[in-house]
Amino acid sequence: MSEKTKGQLLSEKLTYKKLTAYEKYPNEADAAYAYCEGYKSFLNTGKTAREASDEAVRLAKLNGFEEFTFGKAVKAGEKYYYINRNRSVFLFVIGSEDIENGIRICASHIDSPAIDIRAVPLYENGGMAFFRTHYYGGIKKYQWTAIPLSLHGIITKKDGETVNICVGEDESDPIFYINDLLPHLAKEQYTKLLHEGIDGETLNILLGSVPYPDDAVSEKIKLNVLSILYEKYGITEEDFISAELQIVPALKARDVGFDRSLIASYGHDDRVCAYPSLTAMFEVNAPVHTLMAVLADKEETGSNGATGMKGALLDDIITDICVTLGKNERTVRANSMCLSADVCAAYDPNFANAYEKNNSAIVGCGVGLCKYTGARGKSDTNDATGEYTAKIARIFNEADVVWQMCEMGKVDFGGGGTVAKYIAERNIDTIDAGVPVISMHAPYEVVSKADVYNMHKATKAFYEK
Ligand code: MN
Ligand code: MN
Repeated sequence: MSEKTKGQLLSEKLTYKKLTAYEKYPNEADAAYAYCEGYKSFLNTGKTAREASDEAVRLAKLNGFEEFTFGKAVKAGEKYYYINRNRSVFLFVIGSEDIENGIRICASHIDSPAIDIRAVPLYENGGMAFFRTHYYGGIKKYQWTAIPLSLHGIITKKDGETVNICVGEDESDPIFYINDLLPHLAKEQYTKLLHEGIDGETLNILLGSVPYPDDAVSEKIKLNVLSILYEKYGITEEDFISAELQIVPALKARDVGFDRSLIASYGHDDRVCAYPSLTAMFEVNAPVHTLMAVLADKEETGSNGATGMKGALLDDIITDICVTLGKNERTVRANSMCLSADVCAAYDPNFANAYEKNNSAIVGCGVGLCKYTGARGKSDTNDATGEYTAKIARIFNEADVVWQMCEMGKVDFGGGGTVAKYIAERNIDTIDAGVPVISMHAPYEVVSKADVYNMHKATKAFYEK
């Protein structure tokens, strides 16, 4: 073998290059594939924020976590979960060192773009019954037509009893459907802009077509649906007013490609960061730092309300722990570190024009570290300091995490946001880090198994170092 030239050696020393995880650590591929079996099952079990919250709590209990209540005296080594209105969860482990040295917080979200059912949803027209909807989060509406859909959620009846609903996931269940126009009659639709081809009021859920057998009533198909719902769940039309029902794709997580290196699923954004935040925490036994995993709700609609990250609960839990430990919560927050664990946009050569390749995340090249998000001139974003960015990079490097620097796409093309700014505003150093996603916010998104596994490694290193 010929020796490297001076230029080759200098290039290795001085230039920043991305390598895939498979090239960097080829012997970790099996571990990555095995890890993702657990992830796929988390995806299939927790398709809504409520279901993902339930599943996170189930896993936490299996790993020795107990329910936290305000005012509870905590001590080192104890593991707690706190359920916020059944839609979001906080997990934390009290570390052995002084909590005033700071908490390691990993904040992800478990809500995903979906289609919500309206309060007065049911109607019939043209021999079919439908639910009217109001979509949740940033969706490309045309992607949701003519695919199998399932219905998930709860209905709290007037007497206070809550009924759980999940239809369309079991192979023997019926599914639901959103109609699209046949191409033969789409001449006018074809002339519309892509985002106008299907509008919000067209996203109606097909539910049934059998009339109730009584000529004395009008709206027989609607009545027949209501009678089935009454028989099965004991609900009336008025009970939809206090329901939280979501339509999501009736699709399971599946491997993609001959090499099975990718996973297609609904809801990678952001379960692909939430799941590693749990598995990493479960693997760190008796941590030095106090650890916290936040599984937030409402990120996709702006983090508002009591279950979004603009809410007071993060402060309340930190303050409550500090009060019982006799510590200063202001010092704790000032010394805390946060990974805002949310997905980033993977570079897609099929849409190369939307990206600036040098600053885009490449599939398979590991966790995307994102110093700032924002749109068109960094507006509305947290921007982590260079010092904090270097600190996180050092933590990842020391733990052999495969990671890459990235931002969303071309600077004038658009952009996005995460929960990072809401945590940073509490005087907590925060940086975005997450798994690159292909077709983000589509009903069926794609990620790389190597990247998912490295998110687990990255979160664990962050908790431990
Ligand atoms: Mn997200
Ligand atoms: Mn999102």
